[in-house]
Amino acid sequence: VWHNCLQVIKENIGEQSFKTWFEPIKPVSLRDSVLTIQVPSQFFYEWLEEHYVQLLKKVIYQELGSEGRLEYSIIVDRGNEVNKPQTVNIPTKKIPAAVVNSYKPEQSFIKSPFESKTIDRNFLNSQLNPAYTFENYIEGDCNRLARSAGYAVANKPGTTSFNPLMIYGGVGLGKTHLVQAIGNNIKNSNPEKFVLYVSSEKFVNQFIESLKTNNVQDFANFYLLVDILIIDDVQFLSGKEKTQEMFFHIFNHLHQSGKQIVMTSDCPPRDLKGLEERLLSRFKWGLTADLQSPDFETRMAIIHKKMQSDGIDIPDNVVEYLAYSVDTNVRELEGVLISLIAQSSLNRKEIDLELAKQALKHIIEDVETEVNLDFIQKTVAEYFQVSLDSLKAKTRKKEIVTARQVAMYFAKEFTSHSLKSIGYHFGGRDHSTVIHSVQTVSDLIDTDKKFKASIQELQKKFKSKAG
Ligand code: ADP
Ligand code: MG
Repeated sequence: VWHNCLQVIKENIGEQSFKTWFEPIKPVSLRDSVLTIQVPSQFFYEWLEEHYVQLLKKVIYQELGSEGRLEYSIIVDRGNEVNKPQTVNIPTKKIPAAVVNSYKPEQSFIKSPFESKTIDRNFLNSQLNPAYTFENYIEGDCNRLARSAGYAVANKPGTTSFNPLMIYGGVGLGKTHLVQAIGNNIKNSNPEKFVLYVSSEKFVNQFIESLKTNNVQDFANFYLLVDILIIDDVQFLSGKEKTQEMFFHIFNHLHQSGKQIVMTSDCPPRDLKGLEERLLSRFKWGLTADLQSPDFETRMAIIHKKMQSDGIDIPDNVVEYLAYSVDTNVRELEGVLISLIAQSSLNRKEIDLELAKQALKHIIEDVETEVNLDFIQKTVAEYFQVSLDSLKAKTRKKEIVTARQVAMYFAKEFTSHSLKSIGYHFGGRDHSTVIHSVQTVSDLIDTDKKFKASIQELQKKFKSKAG
Protein backbone atom coordinates (compact mmCIF):
# COMPACT_ATOMS: atom_id res chain seq x y z
CA VAL A 1 0.00 0.00 0.00
CA TRP A 2 2.72 2.42 0.97
CA HIS A 3 4.52 1.67 -2.25
CA ASN A 4 1.44 2.71 -4.20
CA CYS A 5 1.17 5.83 -2.11
CA LEU A 6 4.74 6.71 -2.89
CA GLN A 7 4.11 6.39 -6.59
CA VAL A 8 1.33 8.95 -6.42
CA ILE A 9 3.35 11.25 -4.19
CA LYS A 10 6.29 11.07 -6.53
CA GLU A 11 4.17 12.25 -9.41
CA ASN A 12 2.96 15.20 -7.41
CA ILE A 13 6.06 16.75 -5.96
CA GLY A 14 9.58 17.57 -7.04
CA GLU A 15 12.31 14.96 -6.99
CA GLN A 16 14.31 16.79 -4.37
CA SER A 17 11.34 17.08 -2.04
CA PHE A 18 10.51 13.47 -2.55
CA LYS A 19 14.03 12.39 -1.67
CA THR A 20 14.17 14.59 1.38
CA TRP A 21 10.78 13.95 2.82
CA PHE A 22 9.42 10.64 1.57
CA GLU A 23 12.32 8.29 0.93
CA PRO A 24 13.27 8.19 4.61
CA ILE A 25 9.79 7.05 5.62
CA LYS A 26 9.33 3.38 6.47
CA PRO A 27 5.96 1.68 6.39
CA VAL A 28 5.44 -0.19 9.66
CA SER A 29 2.05 -1.82 9.61
CA LEU A 30 -1.39 -1.87 8.12
CA ARG A 31 -4.24 -2.90 10.37
CA ASP A 32 -7.92 -2.22 9.86
CA SER A 33 -7.32 0.51 7.34
CA VAL A 34 -4.78 2.14 9.64
CA LEU A 35 -1.44 2.58 7.98
CA THR A 36 1.45 3.28 10.30
CA ILE A 37 4.57 4.89 8.96
CA GLN A 38 7.82 5.53 10.72
CA VAL A 39 9.44 8.92 10.42
CA PRO A 40 12.95 9.83 11.56
CA SER A 41 12.04 12.61 13.94
CA GLN A 42 9.41 14.77 15.52
CA PHE A 43 10.60 17.60 13.36
CA PHE A 44 10.23 15.49 10.25
CA TYR A 45 6.73 14.63 11.29
CA GLU A 46 5.90 18.28 11.75
CA TRP A 47 7.15 19.17 8.32
CA LEU A 48 5.06 16.45 6.77
CA GLU A 49 2.11 17.71 8.72
CA GLU A 50 2.61 21.26 7.73
CA HIS A 51 3.53 20.84 4.12
CA TYR A 52 2.23 17.56 2.78
CA VAL A 53 -0.92 16.96 4.71
CA GLN A 54 -3.30 17.14 1.80
CA LEU A 55 -1.16 15.03 -0.41
CA LEU A 56 -1.08 12.36 2.27
CA LYS A 57 -4.80 12.61 2.76
CA LYS A 58 -5.33 12.19 -0.90
CA VAL A 59 -3.20 9.08 -1.28
CA ILE A 60 -4.60 7.46 1.85
CA TYR A 61 -8.08 8.09 0.56
CA GLN A 62 -7.21 6.59 -2.80
CA GLU A 63 -5.57 3.54 -1.30
CA LEU A 64 -7.69 2.80 1.73
CA GLY A 65 -10.96 4.55 1.01
CA SER A 66 -12.93 6.64 3.36
CA GLU A 67 -12.03 4.48 6.37
CA GLY A 68 -8.34 5.09 5.81
CA ARG A 69 -6.22 6.42 8.66
CA LEU A 70 -2.60 7.33 8.91
CA GLU A 71 -0.48 7.02 12.00
CA TYR A 72 3.03 8.18 12.54
CA SER A 73 5.61 6.45 14.58
CA ILE A 74 8.44 8.73 15.52
CA ILE A 75 11.99 7.69 16.18
CA VAL A 76 13.79 9.53 18.92
CA ASP A 77 17.37 9.23 20.10
CA ARG A 78 18.75 7.29 17.19
CA GLY A 79 16.88 4.09 16.84
CA ASN A 80 15.04 4.06 20.12
CA GLU A 81 11.61 3.92 18.71
CA VAL A 82 9.11 5.47 20.97
CA ASN A 83 5.81 3.83 21.07
CA LYS A 84 3.93 7.04 20.75
CA PRO A 85 2.28 6.95 17.39
CA GLN A 86 0.54 10.18 16.62
CA THR A 87 -2.93 9.27 15.65
CA VAL A 88 -3.91 11.20 12.66
CA ASN A 89 -7.56 11.14 11.97
CA ILE A 90 -8.12 11.63 8.34
CA PRO A 91 -11.64 12.80 7.81
CA THR A 92 -11.71 11.23 4.39
CA LYS A 93 -15.47 11.08 4.40
CA LYS A 94 -15.44 14.78 3.99
CA ILE A 95 -13.20 14.55 0.99
CA PRO A 96 -15.23 13.60 -2.03
CA ALA A 97 -13.28 13.01 -5.20
CA ALA A 98 -13.67 16.56 -6.42
CA VAL A 99 -12.04 18.01 -3.38
CA VAL A 100 -9.06 15.76 -2.90
CA ASN A 101 -6.90 18.10 -4.87
CA SER A 102 -7.77 21.18 -2.98
CA TYR A 103 -6.93 22.28 0.46
CA LYS A 104 -6.37 25.20 2.72
CA PRO A 105 -2.65 25.41 3.32
CA GLU A 106 -2.30 26.74 6.80
CA GLN A 107 -4.64 24.24 8.35
CA SER A 108 -2.81 21.58 10.21
CA PHE A 109 -4.04 18.07 9.92
CA ILE A 110 -4.46 17.37 13.57
CA LYS A 111 -4.93 20.68 15.23
CA SER A 112 -7.68 22.13 13.15
CA PRO A 113 -10.63 20.89 11.22
CA PHE A 114 -10.27 20.11 7.62
CA GLU A 115 -11.22 22.80 5.19
CA SER A 116 -10.77 22.98 1.50
CA LYS A 117 -10.31 26.21 -0.29
CA THR A 118 -7.35 26.92 -2.45
CA ILE A 119 -5.68 24.61 -4.89
CA ASP A 120 -2.00 23.98 -4.76
CA ARG A 121 -0.73 21.73 -7.45
CA ASN A 122 2.56 21.34 -5.75
CA PHE A 123 1.19 20.32 -2.38
CA LEU A 124 3.70 22.58 -0.82
CA ASN A 125 2.38 25.06 1.61
CA SER A 126 3.24 28.60 0.57
CA GLN A 127 1.68 30.24 3.64
CA LEU A 128 0.36 32.98 1.39
CA ASN A 129 -2.88 34.82 1.90
CA PRO A 130 -4.56 35.01 -1.51
CA ALA A 131 -6.38 38.19 -0.45
CA TYR A 132 -3.19 40.20 -0.91
CA THR A 133 -2.78 41.01 -4.59
CA PHE A 134 -1.35 43.72 -6.81
CA GLU A 135 -4.86 44.44 -8.07
CA ASN A 136 -5.98 45.64 -4.67
CA TYR A 137 -2.72 47.34 -3.79
CA ILE A 138 -3.25 51.03 -4.46
CA GLU A 139 -0.36 52.78 -6.11
CA GLY A 140 0.73 56.23 -4.97
CA ASP A 141 3.83 58.38 -4.63
CA CYS A 142 4.35 56.74 -1.26
CA ASN A 143 4.93 53.28 -2.70
CA ARG A 144 5.70 53.70 -6.40
CA LEU A 145 9.27 52.43 -6.42
CA ALA A 146 8.62 49.54 -4.05
CA ARG A 147 5.53 48.51 -5.96
CA SER A 148 7.12 48.59 -9.38
CA ALA A 149 10.22 46.77 -8.17
CA GLY A 150 7.92 44.19 -6.61
CA TYR A 151 6.04 43.88 -9.85
CA ALA A 152 9.25 43.38 -11.81
CA VAL A 153 10.36 40.68 -9.38
CA ALA A 154 6.98 38.99 -9.61
CA ASN A 155 7.29 38.81 -13.38
CA LYS A 156 10.89 37.64 -13.48
CA PRO A 157 11.75 36.12 -10.12
CA GLY A 158 15.44 35.58 -9.58
CA THR A 159 16.49 37.11 -12.87
CA THR A 160 16.26 40.84 -12.23
CA SER A 161 18.97 42.74 -10.42
CA PHE A 162 16.48 43.18 -7.59
CA ASN A 163 17.74 40.17 -5.71
CA PRO A 164 17.31 40.34 -2.85
CA LEU A 165 14.45 42.81 -2.87
CA MET A 166 14.21 44.58 0.46
CA ILE A 167 11.09 46.58 1.29
CA TYR A 168 11.15 48.72 4.39
CA GLY A 169 8.73 51.09 6.06
CA GLY A 170 6.82 51.79 9.25
CA VAL A 171 4.03 49.73 10.69
CA GLY A 172 0.83 49.42 8.70
CA LEU A 173 2.22 50.89 5.49
CA GLY A 174 1.68 47.79 3.37
CA LYS A 175 4.90 45.76 3.52
CA THR A 176 3.23 42.44 4.15
CA HIS A 177 0.55 43.13 1.56
CA LEU A 178 3.11 43.97 -1.10
CA VAL A 179 5.40 41.00 -0.56
CA GLN A 180 2.45 38.62 -0.37
CA ALA A 181 1.19 40.08 -3.64
CA ILE A 182 4.57 39.26 -5.16
CA GLY A 183 4.29 35.70 -3.86
CA ASN A 184 0.73 35.20 -5.06
CA ASN A 185 1.56 36.61 -8.45
CA ILE A 186 4.52 34.25 -8.91
CA LYS A 187 2.57 31.28 -7.66
CA ASN A 188 -0.26 31.92 -10.07
CA SER A 189 1.92 32.20 -13.11
CA ASN A 190 4.48 29.58 -12.08
CA PRO A 191 2.64 26.85 -10.20
CA GLU A 192 5.68 24.60 -10.40
CA LYS A 193 7.74 27.02 -8.34
CA PHE A 194 7.83 26.64 -4.60
CA VAL A 195 7.05 30.06 -3.16
CA LEU A 196 7.37 30.31 0.59
CA TYR A 197 6.22 33.17 2.79
CA VAL A 198 7.51 33.12 6.33
CA SER A 199 7.59 35.70 9.06
CA SER A 200 10.97 36.13 10.68
CA GLU A 201 9.39 35.27 13.97
CA LYS A 202 8.25 31.93 12.66
CA PHE A 203 11.63 31.35 11.06
CA VAL A 204 13.32 31.93 14.41
CA ASN A 205 10.90 29.67 16.27
CA GLN A 206 11.24 26.87 13.76
CA PHE A 207 14.97 27.14 13.95
CA ILE A 208 15.03 27.04 17.74
CA GLU A 209 12.73 24.04 17.65
CA SER A 210 15.04 22.27 15.23
CA LEU A 211 17.99 22.96 17.51
CA LYS A 212 16.14 21.50 20.46
CA THR A 213 15.24 18.37 18.58
CA ASN A 214 18.51 17.94 16.74
CA ASN A 215 16.99 18.56 13.36
CA VAL A 216 18.88 21.52 12.08
CA GLN A 217 19.75 19.66 8.93
CA ASP A 218 16.10 19.02 8.14
CA PHE A 219 15.38 22.65 8.76
CA ALA A 220 18.09 23.77 6.35
CA ASN A 221 17.15 21.17 3.75
CA PHE A 222 13.63 22.38 3.69
CA TYR A 223 14.57 25.99 3.08
CA LEU A 224 17.01 24.98 0.37
CA LEU A 225 14.07 23.61 -1.59
CA VAL A 226 12.45 26.99 -1.86
CA ASP A 227 12.38 28.81 -5.21
CA ILE A 228 11.10 32.13 -3.93
CA LEU A 229 11.73 32.94 -0.30
CA ILE A 230 9.72 35.78 1.20
CA ILE A 231 10.79 36.61 4.71
CA ASP A 232 8.82 39.28 6.56
CA ASP A 233 10.04 41.64 9.28
CA VAL A 234 13.71 40.72 9.33
CA GLN A 235 14.30 43.22 12.12
CA PHE A 236 13.09 40.35 14.26
CA LEU A 237 16.35 38.51 13.55
CA SER A 238 18.25 41.20 15.47
CA GLY A 239 20.49 39.81 18.13
CA LYS A 240 19.65 36.20 17.25
CA GLU A 241 23.08 35.20 16.10
CA LYS A 242 22.57 31.50 15.53
CA THR A 243 19.46 32.11 13.47
CA GLN A 244 21.26 34.75 11.46
CA GLU A 245 24.03 32.29 10.73
CA MET A 246 21.50 29.82 9.43
CA PHE A 247 19.75 32.49 7.42
CA PHE A 248 23.06 33.59 5.97
CA HIS A 249 23.73 30.05 4.83
CA ILE A 250 20.29 29.67 3.28
CA PHE A 251 20.48 33.11 1.72
CA ASN A 252 23.80 32.38 0.04
CA HIS A 253 22.72 29.05 -1.25
CA LEU A 254 19.45 30.33 -2.69
CA HIS A 255 21.03 33.43 -4.16
CA GLN A 256 23.75 31.43 -5.83
CA SER A 257 21.21 29.14 -7.41
CA GLY A 258 19.33 32.11 -8.84
CA LYS A 259 16.43 31.84 -6.44
CA GLN A 260 14.56 35.03 -5.56
CA ILE A 261 14.66 36.42 -2.05
CA VAL A 262 12.25 39.09 -0.86
CA MET A 263 12.51 40.67 2.57
CA THR A 264 10.81 43.35 4.61
CA SER A 265 11.96 45.37 7.56
CA ASP A 266 10.51 48.14 9.68
CA CYS A 267 13.57 50.33 9.16
CA PRO A 268 16.26 50.87 6.54
CA PRO A 269 18.97 48.16 6.54
CA ARG A 270 21.59 50.57 7.86
CA ASP A 271 19.51 51.00 11.03
CA LEU A 272 19.04 47.29 11.63
CA LYS A 273 20.84 47.06 14.92
CA GLY A 274 22.07 43.68 16.00
CA LEU A 275 22.28 42.26 12.52
CA GLU A 276 25.59 40.88 11.39
CA GLU A 277 27.57 43.02 9.01
CA ARG A 278 28.03 40.21 6.51
CA LEU A 279 24.29 39.70 6.39
CA LEU A 280 23.63 43.41 5.97
CA SER A 281 26.12 43.59 3.14
CA ARG A 282 24.22 40.82 1.35
CA PHE A 283 21.08 42.91 1.52
CA LYS A 284 22.84 45.56 -0.50
CA TRP A 285 23.35 43.20 -3.43
CA GLY A 286 19.84 43.84 -4.61
CA LEU A 287 17.41 46.70 -4.34
CA THR A 288 16.14 48.46 -1.26
CA ALA A 289 12.89 50.40 -1.57
CA ASP A 290 10.88 52.19 1.07
CA LEU A 291 7.20 52.71 1.77
CA GLN A 292 6.10 56.14 2.96
CA SER A 293 2.89 57.22 4.61
CA PRO A 294 0.21 57.51 1.97
CA ASP A 295 -0.69 61.02 0.84
CA PHE A 296 -4.22 62.35 0.81
CA GLU A 297 -5.11 61.14 -2.70
CA THR A 298 -3.77 57.67 -2.02
CA ARG A 299 -5.75 57.50 1.21
CA MET A 300 -8.88 58.47 -0.72
CA ALA A 301 -8.16 55.78 -3.32
CA ILE A 302 -7.59 53.16 -0.62
CA ILE A 303 -10.92 53.98 1.03
CA HIS A 304 -12.71 53.84 -2.31
CA LYS A 305 -11.13 50.49 -3.13
CA LYS A 306 -12.11 49.13 0.25
CA MET A 307 -15.70 50.36 -0.16
CA GLN A 308 -15.86 48.75 -3.56
CA SER A 309 -14.56 45.39 -2.40
CA ASP A 310 -16.78 45.35 0.68
CA GLY A 311 -19.79 46.61 -1.25
CA ILE A 312 -20.44 49.53 1.05
CA ASP A 313 -21.44 53.05 0.24
CA ILE A 314 -20.11 56.08 2.10
CA PRO A 315 -20.90 59.66 1.14
CA ASP A 316 -18.08 61.62 -0.47
CA ASN A 317 -17.75 64.17 2.32
CA VAL A 318 -17.26 61.37 4.85
CA VAL A 319 -14.63 59.68 2.68
CA GLU A 320 -12.79 62.99 2.48
CA TYR A 321 -13.11 63.57 6.18
CA LEU A 322 -11.64 60.13 6.93
CA ALA A 323 -8.86 60.56 4.41
CA TYR A 324 -7.65 63.77 5.90
CA SER A 325 -8.19 62.92 9.55
CA VAL A 326 -6.39 59.60 9.55
CA ASP A 327 -3.02 60.25 8.02
CA THR A 328 -0.83 57.89 9.98
CA ASN A 329 -1.02 54.56 8.21
CA VAL A 330 -3.23 52.34 6.15
CA ARG A 331 -3.97 49.85 8.88
CA GLU A 332 -5.34 52.62 11.06
CA LEU A 333 -7.37 53.96 8.17
CA GLU A 334 -8.90 50.52 7.63
CA GLY A 335 -9.53 50.21 11.34
CA VAL A 336 -11.45 53.47 11.45
CA LEU A 337 -13.46 52.47 8.41
CA ILE A 338 -14.41 49.17 10.01
CA SER A 339 -15.43 50.76 13.28
CA LEU A 340 -17.48 53.31 11.39
CA ILE A 341 -19.32 50.57 9.52
CA ALA A 342 -19.83 48.68 12.77
CA GLN A 343 -21.26 51.71 14.55
CA SER A 344 -23.54 52.46 11.66
CA SER A 345 -25.06 49.00 11.68
CA LEU A 346 -25.13 48.81 15.47
CA ASN A 347 -26.99 52.09 15.85
CA ARG A 348 -28.95 51.61 12.64
CA LYS A 349 -27.75 54.95 11.46
CA GLU A 350 -26.69 55.99 8.00
CA ILE A 351 -23.02 56.74 7.70
CA ASP A 352 -22.74 60.50 7.68
CA LEU A 353 -20.29 63.14 8.78
CA GLU A 354 -21.66 63.25 12.29
CA LEU A 355 -21.25 59.53 12.81
CA ALA A 356 -17.76 59.70 11.32
CA LYS A 357 -16.77 62.45 13.72
CA GLN A 358 -18.09 60.38 16.57
CA ALA A 359 -16.19 57.31 15.40
CA LEU A 360 -13.03 59.33 15.21
CA LYS A 361 -13.49 61.09 18.53
CA HIS A 362 -10.84 59.12 20.37
CA ILE A 363 -8.29 59.86 17.68
CA ILE A 364 -9.12 63.55 17.42
CA GLU A 365 -9.07 63.94 21.19
CA ASP A 366 -5.55 62.61 21.24
CA VAL A 367 -4.36 65.49 19.16
CA GLU A 368 -6.31 68.19 20.91
CA THR A 369 -3.47 68.89 23.29
CA GLU A 370 -1.17 69.43 20.35
CA VAL A 371 -0.89 72.38 18.08
CA ASN A 372 -3.18 71.08 15.40
CA LEU A 373 -4.73 72.73 12.39
CA ASP A 374 -7.91 73.74 14.19
CA PHE A 375 -5.97 75.43 16.94
CA ILE A 376 -3.75 77.28 14.51
CA GLN A 377 -6.68 78.49 12.45
CA LYS A 378 -8.61 79.66 15.52
CA THR A 379 -5.64 81.44 17.04
CA VAL A 380 -4.63 83.18 13.84
CA ALA A 381 -8.22 84.20 13.03
CA GLU A 382 -8.59 85.71 16.47
CA TYR A 383 -5.29 87.49 16.25
CA PHE A 384 -6.10 89.10 12.91
CA GLN A 385 -9.72 89.57 13.91
CA VAL A 386 -11.16 87.76 10.94
CA SER A 387 -13.73 84.98 11.02
CA LEU A 388 -12.65 81.35 11.10
CA ASP A 389 -14.80 80.60 8.07
CA SER A 390 -13.17 83.28 5.99
CA LEU A 391 -9.83 81.44 6.26
CA LYS A 392 -11.44 78.57 4.41
CA ALA A 393 -13.43 80.68 2.01
CA LYS A 394 -12.56 82.00 -1.42
CA THR A 395 -12.43 85.64 -0.45
CA ARG A 396 -9.36 87.65 -1.52
CA LYS A 397 -9.73 90.59 0.89
CA LYS A 398 -6.27 91.69 1.90
CA GLU A 399 -6.52 91.18 5.68
CA ILE A 400 -8.04 87.79 5.17
CA VAL A 401 -5.46 86.75 2.60
CA THR A 402 -2.69 87.70 5.02
CA ALA A 403 -4.28 85.86 7.94
CA ARG A 404 -4.80 82.82 5.76
CA GLN A 405 -1.19 82.86 4.61
CA VAL A 406 0.05 83.17 8.17
CA ALA A 407 -2.10 80.28 9.30
CA MET A 408 -0.75 78.14 6.46
CA TYR A 409 2.76 79.15 7.39
CA PHE A 410 2.25 77.93 10.97
CA ALA A 411 0.46 74.81 9.81
CA LYS A 412 3.58 73.96 7.87
CA GLU A 413 5.81 74.72 10.83
CA PHE A 414 3.87 73.07 13.63
CA THR A 415 1.95 70.16 12.15
CA SER A 416 3.00 67.15 10.15
CA HIS A 417 0.33 67.74 7.51
CA SER A 418 1.52 67.58 3.93
CA LEU A 419 1.17 70.65 1.72
CA LYS A 420 -1.75 68.96 0.01
CA SER A 421 -3.49 68.33 3.28
CA ILE A 422 -2.93 71.89 4.47
CA GLY A 423 -4.41 73.20 1.23
CA TYR A 424 -7.36 70.93 1.71
CA HIS A 425 -8.04 72.40 5.14
CA PHE A 426 -7.97 75.90 3.78
CA GLY A 427 -10.94 75.61 1.51
CA GLY A 428 -9.52 73.06 -0.91
CA ARG A 429 -6.57 75.04 -2.20
CA ASP A 430 -3.78 73.20 -3.96
CA HIS A 431 -0.30 72.64 -2.64
CA SER A 432 1.29 75.35 -4.80
CA THR A 433 -0.92 77.93 -3.07
CA VAL A 434 0.43 76.68 0.25
CA ILE A 435 4.03 76.94 -0.96
CA HIS A 436 3.34 80.46 -2.19
CA SER A 437 1.81 81.46 1.16
CA VAL A 438 4.73 80.12 3.17
CA GLN A 439 7.14 81.94 0.86
CA THR A 440 5.20 85.22 1.11
CA VAL A 441 5.18 85.09 4.90
CA SER A 442 8.92 84.33 5.04
CA ASP A 443 9.63 87.28 2.74
CA LEU A 444 7.48 89.59 4.84
CA ILE A 445 9.28 88.52 8.01
CA ASP A 446 12.54 89.59 6.39
CA THR A 447 11.31 92.94 5.14
CA ASP A 448 8.58 94.09 7.55
CA LYS A 449 9.59 94.59 11.20
CA LYS A 450 6.05 95.03 12.48
CA PHE A 451 4.90 91.92 10.69
CA LYS A 452 7.86 90.03 12.10
CA ALA A 453 6.86 91.00 15.63
CA SER A 454 3.33 89.71 15.11
CA ILE A 455 4.65 86.43 13.82
CA GLN A 456 6.93 86.09 16.81
CA GLU A 457 4.08 86.76 19.16
CA LEU A 458 1.97 84.08 17.53
CA GLN A 459 4.90 81.71 17.46
CA LYS A 460 5.24 82.04 21.23
CA LYS A 461 1.63 80.96 21.69
CA PHE A 462 2.14 77.87 19.59
CA LYS A 463 5.45 77.01 21.15
CA SER A 464 4.11 77.25 24.68
CA LYS A 465 1.17 75.06 23.77
CA ALA A 466 3.43 72.52 22.04
CA GLY A 467 5.40 72.41 25.29
P1 ADP B 1 2.78 46.29 7.28
O1 ADP B 1 3.15 44.89 6.95
O2 ADP B 1 3.71 47.29 6.61
O3 ADP B 1 2.67 46.56 8.74
P2 ADP B 1 0.31 45.59 6.00
O4 ADP B 1 0.83 45.06 4.70
O5 ADP B 1 -0.12 44.59 6.99
O6 ADP B 1 1.36 46.59 6.66
O7 ADP B 1 -0.88 46.62 5.66
C1 ADP B 1 -1.86 46.99 6.62
C2 ADP B 1 -3.21 47.02 5.96
O8 ADP B 1 -3.27 48.07 5.01
C3 ADP B 1 -3.53 45.75 5.19
O9 ADP B 1 -4.87 45.43 5.37
C4 ADP B 1 -3.26 46.13 3.75
O10 ADP B 1 -4.08 45.39 2.86
C5 ADP B 1 -3.60 47.59 3.73
N1 ADP B 1 -2.80 48.34 2.74
C6 ADP B 1 -1.56 48.83 2.93
N2 ADP B 1 -1.11 49.48 1.85
C7 ADP B 1 -2.10 49.42 0.95
C8 ADP B 1 -2.25 49.92 -0.39
N3 ADP B 1 -1.27 50.63 -1.01
N4 ADP B 1 -3.41 49.66 -1.03
C9 ADP B 1 -4.39 48.96 -0.41
N5 ADP B 1 -4.31 48.48 0.83
C10 ADP B 1 -3.18 48.68 1.52
MG1 MG C 1 3.63 43.27 8.20
